[in-house]
Amino acid sequence: MINRLVVIGVGLIGGSLALALKKAGACREVVGAGRNPLHLNKAVELGVIDRFETDIGRAVQGADMVVLAVPVGAMEASFAQLRGHLEPDAVFTDVGSTKGSVVEAARRVFTQVPAAFVPGHPIAGTEDSGVAAAVAGLFQQRRVVLTPLPETSAEALAKVREMWQRVGAEVVETGVAHHDEVLAATSHLPHLLAYTLVDTLARMDTSEEIFRYAASGFRDFTRIAGSSPQMWHDICLANRNAILDMIRRFTEDLEQLAVALRTEDSAEILGRFTRAKGARDRFKAGKP
Ligand code: NAP
Repeated sequence: MINRLVVIGVGLIGGSLALALKKAGACREVVGAGRNPLHLNKAVELGVIDRFETDIGRAVQGADMVVLAVPVGAMEASFAQLRGHLEPDAVFTDVGSTKGSVVEAARRVFTQVPAAFVPGHPIAGTEDSGVAAAVAGLFQQRRVVLTPLPETSAEALAKVREMWQRVGAEVVETGVAHHDEVLAATSHLPHLLAYTLVDTLARMDTSEEIFRYAASGFRDFTRIAGSSPQMWHDICLANRNAILDMIRRFTEDLEQLAVALRTEDSAEILGRFTRAKGARDRFKAGKP
């Protein structure tokens, strides 16, 4: 399907997509593009890419599919570097965790969002980062959200959709703003809470003792605080309005719980926990 795939940012997500497409026999050649030759050499050694370029303009020459897989704060600079170098029939997409900021970055660089650009976001990942963490099966049975715009060509959209389907993903489409609101609630707020909890505990005088006695609940809740700080810094700033709205809602609920504790309102406390357990059980059973 793809003759030459170019992955800009060969880390966990870009590397996993390259591996998966190769494994599926869905692309003939993979060229990596990035800023660090040491990491790109590692990607060649691991068989993730066939060769690499450190100049994005050169890398995209002859490519029919280009995937931007850098942190969302680095998308604009990547767009600027590939502008004017894409082949006329090339399609390009991104994997960024926020969509409004990426679309705005594309608009700033290209004046209007090009018809060949399809904004996308695979809802898959781990707390690990870098090409060494890349795995071919990362997108199997996972959702990929595409947020096409009125400007997006039907042909480009179909190509990107097919690429993700070839690596086992279920592709869904939604609007840019809706994507960012939903992800602020389901992904961005939980990451912020995990980072904040670990940071609060780590700065307490008794932190050594606290971590020594931490059990599996703490491990489960804070796993995502092991994610890349740079990536999450970029996501938080890029989607700050939707995230601030979720922080406000969450803070209100936490304050109400504190009031219930202060007043020993046992019915309120039990009611909240029971309601939450019900929602969590339905989510676990795949019946939200
Ligand atoms: P990653 O493993 O850290 O890989 C990021 C890649 O981007 C690396 O190749 C890195 O190159 C490059 N890069 C970093 N900063 C850059 C900069 N300022 N300019 C140019 N290149 C830069 O991260 P990832 O988890 O694959 O995330 C990549 C994208 O996928 C992000 O937009 C993220 O929001 C999105 N995403 C992540 C997940 C997840 O769970 N991890 C899930 C869905 C979507 P170096 O080797 O030079 O550092």
